[in-house]
Parts: sequence; C-alpha cells; structure tokens
Amino acid sequence: MFRKDDIAVKILKDNKELEQFLSNLNSIGYQAVEEIEDKVKKIIADVKLKKDEAVLGYTRLFDCKEFDLEDLIVKEEEIDRAFFECQKEDEKFVQALKLTYENIYQYHLKQKEETWIFTKDDTILGQIVRPLERVGIYVPGGNGSYPSTVLMNSIPAKVAGVKEIIMVTPPDKEKKINKYTLAAAKICGVNKIFKVGGAQAIAALAFGTELIPKVDKIVGPGNIYVAIAKKILFGNVDIDSIAGPSEVLIIADSFANPKYVAADLLSQAEHDTMARSILITTSQDLALEVNKKVDEMLKANPNQIAAQSIERNGVIIIVEDLDDAVEIANRICPEHLELCCKNPEDLIFKIKNAGAIFVGEFSPEPIGDYIAGPNHVLPTSGTARFFSPLGVYDFVKRISLIKYSKEQFLKDAPFAIEIAEKERFLFHANSLKVRLEDV
Ligand code: NAD
Repeated sequence: MFRKDDIAVKILKDNKELEQFLSNLNSIGYQAVEEIEDKVKKIIADVKLKKDEAVLGYTRLFDCKEFDLEDLIVKEEEIDRAFFECQKEDEKFVQALKLTYENIYQYHLKQKEETWIFTKDDTILGQIVRPLERVGIYVPGGNGSYPSTVLMNSIPAKVAGVKEIIMVTPPDKEKKINKYTLAAAKICGVNKIFKVGGAQAIAALAFGTELIPKVDKIVGPGNIYVAIAKKILFGNVDIDSIAGPSEVLIIADSFANPKYVAADLLSQAEHDTMARSILITTSQDLALEVNKKVDEMLKANPNQIAAQSIERNGVIIIVEDLDDAVEIANRICPEHLELCCKNPEDLIFKIKNAGAIFVGEFSPEPIGDYIAGPNHVLPTSGTARFFSPLGVYDFVKRISLIKYSKEQFLKDAPFAIEIAEKERFLFHANSLKVRLEDV
C-alpha cells in the first residue's frame, strides 16, 4: 500500500505526459543567472589586471581568510605527505587508485591519433598531430573529495603527450586541500598544483599570473561560478564543455532485477537535486517493484539530496516494447544509458545518442564512474546528440601539411585561379599567376 511519506519515481500516465516531459528536457544545464554572470565578469577583469593580487583577494574572501601568496603553490612535501598518509590509513585506497590509473591509461591509449601523410599525384599531403603544451585541470573543493576527477581529466592529457598539467583546487578554511585528491594527483604525475578555486582560478589559468602559468585548455567540473567563467573565457582558452546536471536512463524489461535498477536510479540521484534518473520499461510490474525498492532504500539510508532529486526529476516511462524504449532514449540523449534486459547486446547498435552505454546487470554506472577505464566526463543535458566523452582527442590539435611539386602546381593552379577570381580575391589569383608566368 502506498503511504503518504513514501518516495516514488513518477510514472508517466500516457503519451501526452511523455511528450510534455520530452519537450521540457532542455539542452542547457546551467541557466546562467545574470547576476552571477556580472559577478564572474568582474572577477575575470580583476584577475586579468591585478593577477596574483586579485587571486589572493578572492581566495581570502571566499575560501580562507588567513591565506597568503606563499600558500598558493602546493609544495612537493605536502603532496608526498598526503600520499603517505593515505597509504598508511588505507592501503587499499591507494591500490584502487593505481588499478584505476592503469585501466584508464590502457583504455585511452586506444584513442591515440597518429600523424598521417600520403601522396596524391605529385603532392604530399598530411595531418600532423601535436599535443597541447600545457593544460589546466579544475578539481572542485568545498566538502567534496574528488580523486576520480583528477584521474579522468589528467590521464587523457598524459596519453596525448601534454607536457605540463596544472591543477587548481580551492583551499579549505585551514589552507588545506583534500588528501585523497592530492594522492590521485601524485599518481597521475600532475606537474603543479595551486590552491585556488572558482572563477578566479579559471581566469588565472586563462591569462596567467605571476605565479600561475597560462594554459591552452581548461577541463574539469565545478560549480556555477566555475562553469560561467569557463563559458566567458572560451576563445581566450579552450575548454572541455559546460557540464549540466548528471543523468541516467535505464532501459529494463521484466528480466531486470528491481533491486539493481532502484539502486542505480538512486546512485544518480545522490549527485544533486537537479540530477535526473529515468527508467524506461516494458514491464508495469517492474516499475512498481522498482518504486517499492527506491522507497525502502531511501528509508534505510535517508539522503535528502537523493530523495529530492527522485521526487523532482525521477521518471518512469512504460512502453510496449524495447524498440520504443530505444527510440525514446535516442530522443533524450542521456549521459549514462544502462541496458538491463534479457538480451542487452541486441540493443547496443540501435543506440544513436548517449554519453556511455552500460551493458547488462553487472555493468552499473558506478563501475564506469570509477574503475572500468572509459572516461566518466560525458556529455550532459541532451548534448550527447553532438558531443563525445572527454578523451585523448581533446588534448591534441591537428596541423595540415601541403607540399606541391612544380609539375603538379602547373596542373592545379589554373583551377585555383578560377575559384579565387569568382571570390574576387585577385591577390590570391595573383600569387598563383606570378608563379605560372615564371615557369
Ligand atoms: P567548487 O570548487 O566548484 O567551487 C568553490 C569556489 O566557488 C570557491 O573557491 C569560490 O571561489 C567560488 N564561490 C563560492 N561562493 C561564491 C560566491 N558567492 N561568489 C563567487 N564565487 C564563489 O566547489 P563546490 O562549490 O563544492 O562545487 C562543486 C561542483 O562540482 C558541484 O556542482 C558538483 O556537482 C560538481 N562536480 C561535478 C562532477 C562531475 O563529474 N560532473 C564531479 C565532481 C563535482
């Protein structure tokens, strides 16, 4: 019997409710509030002009009153101390970091792009792949501990051949940063770490300050100040993407285990109250059973964020068959897509839009979040329609290569002149003509 205090995922009643739900899914995660944008613009302008002085001022204002400039750079001893403390306290955690490092590294090696050169007629053409020189990784502070963020953002950069990885993360009130985060940074070989967060950290990385080097690209998640600063500074510096709230979509049939499905919906919901947990199922019984389990699990482990997220954004859609489920999933373009059905492999290649696909009941999303190897930085809020997971390709650039012989030039130049003249670029045409006249 459903009681008043039971927490349940909303089951959509009919097609009208489904269409309404789908049309309300927007593609922009963070609704940039004007007031915050103005504040971030001011922080950016201050850091651009006053550099470290502004970084210090904002760090004192938002993070740590007693902060001094000499606290900004994390010293080697602090990183080593954190690592050894972690090792002493929990050897298994350090082992887990090392195993995860290896899995992520091996997976990302497969993504490595090579330079290619080929000859066509009498020309040599090609594409030279070069790593970015220096990248910045933002690791959130607050009450969080994010070693997996360090691993997932820095390893693809390492594999790409980036020479210098600069990490920024805000200090706590005692000037400290999280030891698990530092231990992960040591394992990943991060080159420099600075205790700075928020928009001031992004601006410092984008422009460079006396102490913080300017980088070519900034990756990593953060709160709305971080997200807006990245958006504003894109162009001065490259960025990964603007992460919206996280989401999971589970496709399940009557063979799925309701306990697993409920647990996976909740694991997504605990991220934040905006997180979205969606179940599409062919089985009404499974839907009811999942709701029972969600309620039981939340009562056994009360969690305000997960409960609010489930009640606000949780949805169950009941469909006729799995093809309908796939069609709806392709419209939603979820960040994480779990296939919990009897023959999940049959659905894999019907999926057109998703950040990552988790196949079968023993591939829950958290296994991919931490240890499997593929990147957990995935397109959110419907952007899987055109974005891909963070990868090695995000840390390289490509340079085109063109070499003509005289004979091939004589053959091709008249055609190039045709096009240049139609575009009324007469000096373009001239550059070709002066050579033709000479030979
Ligand atoms: P944060 O490091 O993102 O932000 C802290 C900084 O915000 C402070 O250093 C300060 O500079 C700035 N700030 C705080 N209040 C301010 C104000 N009033 N005005 C201007 N600047 C201000 O840490 P957080 O706040 O704990 O947020 C972490 C975020 O990262 C969360 O939204 C979390 O969901 C997200 N996250 C996402 C992932 C992922 O993989 N998608 C992983 C980890 C964390």
